[in-house]
Amino acid sequence: MRPTEIIVDLDAIRHNFNAFKNLNPASIPVPVVKSDAYGHGAIQVATALQAQGAQALAVFRVEEAIQLRNANVTVPIWVLLGALDYEIDDAVNYDLTLACWSLDNAGKLNDAAKKARIVQPIHLKIDTGMGRLGFLPNQVRDAIAEINSFSSLRLCGAFTHIAKADEPCHPVTANQVEQFRIIANDLPASCNQIHLAATSAIERRLMDALPYNRPGIGIYGIAPEKESNLDLIPAMTVKSRLISLKDIPKGHTISYNCTVTLQRDSKIAVVPIGYSTGLQRAFTNKMKGIVRGKIVNNLGTVCMDMTMFDLTDVPDAAQDDEIILLGKQGNAEITAWELASAANTIPYEILCNLGQAHPRTYLN
Ligand SMILES: *Cc1c(COP(=O)(O)O)cnc(C)c1O
Repeated sequence: MRPTEIIVDLDAIRHNFNAFKNLNPASIPVPVVKSDAYGHGAIQVATALQAQGAQALAVFRVEEAIQLRNANVTVPIWVLLGALDYEIDDAVNYDLTLACWSLDNAGKLNDAAKKARIVQPIHLKIDTGMGRLGFLPNQVRDAIAEINSFSSLRLCGAFTHIAKADEPCHPVTANQVEQFRIIANDLPASCNQIHLAATSAIERRLMDALPYNRPGIGIYGIAPEKESNLDLIPAMTVKSRLISLKDIPKGHTISYNCTVTLQRDSKIAVVPIGYSTGLQRAFTNKMKGIVRGKIVNNLGTVCMDMTMFDLTDVPDAAQDDEIILLGKQGNAEITAWELASAANTIPYEILCNLGQAHPRTYLN
């Protein structure tokens, strides 16, 4: 077996999904499994969530949705990007719910659906403040009128995305919520799959009376903000092994650029993972590992495929020992937030980078 692997605890994912169900029984969580389920494996996660009673799942691209359909995921799949021109003819054959954010797209989708003799369900994507994809609020009324004239489209939902949900009182957030409230009140009754909140907005209970919400990062057990009251269990563990353990004398330097000169005779381990597979170079001299239940420090620059750790204080450490780079062992824990802080990024990027770079094993 390869020395580095990702362990995904599907029980943790079920627990987190249930946490969202219980948090607000009035609103149905539609777990977001884009980017290979944030690096946890879309097919395995979607299959587990479907068995756990998820009423729908969300992905980013049509390709991801087709992959799930081919793996026997039968619940409704919401495609948050919708179908791009090159994939429209394919997309209409997979019983997907497609986001729609332009009338050009709506027209092409209508033609493709007509040709395939289906009626294509769509969710209107509304830009209340992201400045990304979506109809601007003042375009929504005309867009709906035009879409209603397309006989092979069924407008069954509408959504927006919050730019700064961690500050519900921020003027941008308050304005987004207010704009969407006005639009939602004006939608035809048949357009009732209305949703706004991702994990952070779910915790802040922004428009929590809407019938659906879209938790992503929280499903994987990570809070989108450092301080959180959500009851979540991290699902991902990253494990590797000490492929070399060597005594190196005081005064020797470690790794590229000699950022570290040993201050004592040391025992230095090499772990075969580096920035090409998710251990970012920015973690250099800031990240930790867990060996035999003890926290150990990275020493020296993270290389493309190797990283060194100081095992001097773990006298019983042996070659081939396991090292945890993300997750728990005994009472020791390394969180995605710690790694994110070391690289000045957010846990989302940590999970996606690490999870997609290594073979995965599933628990439970
Ligand atoms: C990724 C995404 C989500 C999930 O966001 P989290 O912060 O991970 O909960 C929800 N909605 C949209 C439109 C997204 O792109």
